[in-house]
Amino acid sequence: MHDFLETLACGACGREHDARRIHTVCEACGHSLLPRYDLDRVSRAVTPDEVARRPRGIWRFRELLPPVAGSDGADLGAGDTPLFPLRRLGRRLGMSNLWLKDEGANPTGTFKARGAAVGVAAAAALGVRELAIPTAGNAGSAWAAYSAAVGLPIHVVMPVDTPPPIKAECAAYGADLTEVDGLISDAARIVGERAARHGWFDASTMREPYRVEGKKTMGLEIAEAFDWKPPDAVLYPTGGGVGLIGIWKAMRELDEMGWLKGPPPRLIAVQAAGCASIVHAWEAGAATAERVADAHTIAPGLRVPLPFAHALVLRAMRETGGTAVAVGDDELIAAMSELAESEGVFACPEGAALLPALRRLLEQGDLEHDATVVLLNTGNALKYTDLVHAPEGSAT
Ligand SMILES: *Cc1c(COP(=O)(O)O)cnc(C)c1O
Ligand SMILES: [Zn+2]
Repeated sequence: MHDFLETLACGACGREHDARRIHTVCEACGHSLLPRYDLDRVSRAVTPDEVARRPRGIWRFRELLPPVAGSDGADLGAGDTPLFPLRRLGRRLGMSNLWLKDEGANPTGTFKARGAAVGVAAAAALGVRELAIPTAGNAGSAWAAYSAAVGLPIHVVMPVDTPPPIKAECAAYGADLTEVDGLISDAARIVGERAARHGWFDASTMREPYRVEGKKTMGLEIAEAFDWKPPDAVLYPTGGGVGLIGIWKAMRELDEMGWLKGPPPRLIAVQAAGCASIVHAWEAGAATAERVADAHTIAPGLRVPLPFAHALVLRAMRETGGTAVAVGDDELIAAMSELAESEGVFACPEGAALLPALRRLLEQGDLEHDATVVLLNTGNALKYTDLVHAPEGSAT
């Protein structure tokens, strides 16, 4: 066992909570809890070279993750996803240093596997017997997969219009699936009620302290891939914003350990125009966001009317000199084809949204053409084939 985890500190008021017990949100103010490690000890216990030599996957960074034993979690192979240059698109955009990190290579086809790997392992280690999770889709299938692999029952609640392949995955993993005629916010209400009634652990986004740690590993990997001199910007398709907060947390921890050789990347939140609470708040210069009424977009992962941790998302953007961009559904569908045709990457609609956002930022002079930029494609489009035009096939 490695235990460098000191406490769970509230991201808003700073109140500390005992990390040896299971927690959801801050007991004092109800905001998200963030795990805090003894980074001084971590930096004496492990080096970048040692981390690089370990077997692939998120647990290479175990000193910066909650202390779970191998038997608590399942290693389905999350993490260490491909990061490669987009040469043809780069030329088209006049950029010399454009990269894509392809999270579609994770188990269950999205980066949600990172959060689930750590979240389920921590829940099992802390004695949770039954899990419940509201989801726009992909978190549900990822948590269902990891729960199956450790033998924990899980209840998943998702919008009825979630793409059918995602529902099929949840069913295949043996999850108890409930569909609601509404959004993830409606699913969250149902999970809250049922979890309280039946004693299930409510693993809602940012109300559960360890999922963000799993997503943090994206930031650790990105920093390492650029030899600890982070890229200038990371574009991130923002739903609940967990990944964005995770990358910010990764950079802060690496900086405190003295591993970083440059400033953290600018964290750029990309949302769908029909569901852009963070973009609205950013443009208004506000420190908190407001719920979007009538939230709509075809990208399920972006269909979050108000991220629970909106203040933390905005803080991560502010502290890194980031910004926020909204793109239309027609733009992100066109971008799915463009990424596929020009680079051979079949990106999910959420990930594809980054391309029109990037064009806008270049046009506005918000990003330089010679900047090193990473697009974080959060998932594989095979779950979303109904969203792209399939040409009529002709049988021979
Ligand atoms: C969940 C999800 C997102 C949004 O992720 P957050 O960390 O909640 O902002 C983006 N893309 C896909 C494919 C997702 O499943
Ligand atoms: Zn608090």
